[in-house]
Amino acid sequence: MIDIVKLSKTFGTRTLWSDVTVTVSSGEMLALVGPSGSGKSTLLNCIGLLDKPNAGEIRHEGADITRFGRREIRRFRRDILGYLFQNYALIENATVATNLEVAVKPQRTLRGKTSVDIAEALERVGMAGQDEEKIHHLSGGEQQRVALARLMVKRPALVLADEPTGALDHANATAVIDILREMSDAGCAVVIATHDDRVRDRCDAVFAVNENSLVA
Ligand code: ADP
Ligand code: MG
Repeated sequence: MIDIVKLSKTFGTRTLWSDVTVTVSSGEMLALVGPSGSGKSTLLNCIGLLDKPNAGEIRHEGADITRFGRREIRRFRRDILGYLFQNYALIENATVATNLEVAVKPQRTLRGKTSVDIAEALERVGMAGQDEEKIHHLSGGEQQRVALARLMVKRPALVLADEPTGALDHANATAVIDILREMSDAGCAVVIATHDDRVRDRCDAVFAVNENSLVA
């Protein structure tokens, strides 16, 4: 799905990481670990085309996505990518339903599957019937679950998650990992930057950013 080849990132004279080579396949969950400041988020952002590496390639279906132009970036984000940010990245002032509708691909709307998908996803994250709730009335854990429901509606081929359990209590964290694992088992490639051993233990592979190596 994604082949990272000899990727390097520097800020001025400081090398954050270099020669990173790692692959994540469809159906596989990869954890990025390392101390705070080791560059986990920066690596995720490079894969998500929010940041640019200084050298190396990120290959997807034969193309080096780091060389994509604006249109290809937009298409990659729209058609391939799902992002789960630490701050949820929801539309604060809108309802739960609106936040999920923005993830629905136009061709699926035409087929009339939208409402079923949204209801199912909300049910799955334990937020059934809360469609009309405003985001800013929800707790952090509930907002993270809405963000997950939005991912489930979008069904991206690649999910990037940055410390998705960082701000959550045990029950919410477990729910988040369960759903990411479920999406991965359904064929999605998942990359998760995390400090959380429970997340790491559920992944298929662990890459230590600070050591530039796969951990057994
Ligand atoms: P992690 O997610 O592992 O905590 P980050 O990827 O957020 O690490 O950041 C790694 C380091 O890179 C930090 O020390 C941060 O200060 C630095 N950094 C991130 N973005 C920039 C930037 N645009 N310019 C300079 N330094 C940056
Ligand atoms: Mg980070």
